[in-house]
Amino acid sequence: MNLPAEDRYQDIRDALRDLCSHYPDEYWREVDGARDYPEAFVDALTGAGWLAALIPQAYGGSGLGLAEASVIMEEINRNGGNAGACHGQMYNMGTLLRHGSEAQKRDYLPKIASGELRLQSMGVTEPTTGTDTTQLKTVAVKRGDRYVVNGQKVWISRIQHSDLMILLARTTPAEQVKRKSEGLSIFLVDLHEAIGQGLSVRPILNMVNHETNELFFDNLEIPAENLIGEEGRGFKYILDGLNAERTLIAAECIGDAWWFINRAARYARERVVFDRPIGQNQGVQFPIAESYIETSAANLMRYRACELFDAHAPCGAEANMAKYLAAKASWEAANACLQTHGGFGFACEYDIERKFRETRLYQVAPISTNLILSYVAEHILGLPRSF
Ligand SMILES: Cc1cc2nc3c(=O)[nH]c(=O)nc-3n(C[C@H](O)[C@H](O)[C@H](O)COP(=O)(O)OP(=O)(O)OC[C@H]3O[C@@H](n4cnc5c(N)ncnc54)[C@H](O)[C@@H]3O)c2cc1C
Repeated sequence: MNLPAEDRYQDIRDALRDLCSHYPDEYWREVDGARDYPEAFVDALTGAGWLAALIPQAYGGSGLGLAEASVIMEEINRNGGNAGACHGQMYNMGTLLRHGSEAQKRDYLPKIASGELRLQSMGVTEPTTGTDTTQLKTVAVKRGDRYVVNGQKVWISRIQHSDLMILLARTTPAEQVKRKSEGLSIFLVDLHEAIGQGLSVRPILNMVNHETNELFFDNLEIPAENLIGEEGRGFKYILDGLNAERTLIAAECIGDAWWFINRAARYARERVVFDRPIGQNQGVQFPIAESYIETSAANLMRYRACELFDAHAPCGAEANMAKYLAAKASWEAANACLQTHGGFGFACEYDIERKFRETRLYQVAPISTNLILSYVAEHILGLPRSF
């Protein structure tokens, strides 16, 4: 029998499983109940170097590929945790790595790798424009050696647990550019300097224990040297990072799906009703079996996306399809698991309702399912752009 693809990285899996065993279900349940940040877990993960997997060795990281990084994210969720608390560090760093100057990389990457600095946040989404990113209204105007930022963002995650944020803002008015994707730029914002000095933060209480916020910029000054790459090319830089983001989140969904499938199968074998295990009923078996099939298929697409990404080959289609399939598979596995547990699925102590809420997010963020479908329709099938 061919080994399932996940066994390819058994050494990483073993190490992650060992680390995660110190943060069992009770830990995540308490953090969720208190709406706390899983500080101890994120510190341990950083301390062991796992969050620096994608940072090249020359800058203090371990220089691993996306496949290995995706296994790290998968294992966190597969062991009952929530990688969403810290996944931003994996892919936000990529923007700096690909487009930052040598001085910026030398200044920041080693500190990010060691855990001295956290780059957990990326500020793109705005309340009035949503998915239509190029229409965003936040502006950064150059004045001498600084940019002055005004505007508003929404749903910006992990601000209160990050030192730095990547910010996308318009530097040339939309009327003065040929294409609406031009004239946007990205900046590295030092959150400690910014908060209270032009940036205010309002937390959004939400369905998941996911620290996310509204941001208000009122003449926030950013040193001009914090511009990343060339002025006006920020939208392209953000797009460049999306394949890694999509693939890593696909892996998290796959981790969730395996967790749900394992829990559902175990309970279906053990729970006896009408004098037989509930798992003996096909009505109970089939949704779990279906989830197993769908997750296995999504997993293949995730590894295909990783393979292409790590070979520096185009992988937009595969990364998007992996995210689509994995988010769908994890959500269906969540439903099957909840249904298998009957009423007990709703009890917090079983952790299913928590993971159910957590995995639901990935149908919407960081990209909604519809936008993936429209990407495939337009870019793969050559259908007319619908918006
Ligand atoms: C918990 C959480 C954390 C987040 N963290 C971050 C973060 O750290 N940084 C950040 O920048 N953003 C973040 N986001 C924002 C997230 O990326 C957006 O919510 C997401 O991209 C959708 O944007 P929107 O909410 O404005 O929805 P809208 O753009 O208003 O869309 C609403 C619905 O309409 C659909 N829709 C819109 N236009 C079309 C179309 N043309 N065709 C078909 N369907 C369409 C969408 O698919 C969606 O289902 C986060 C969101 C959440 C909920």
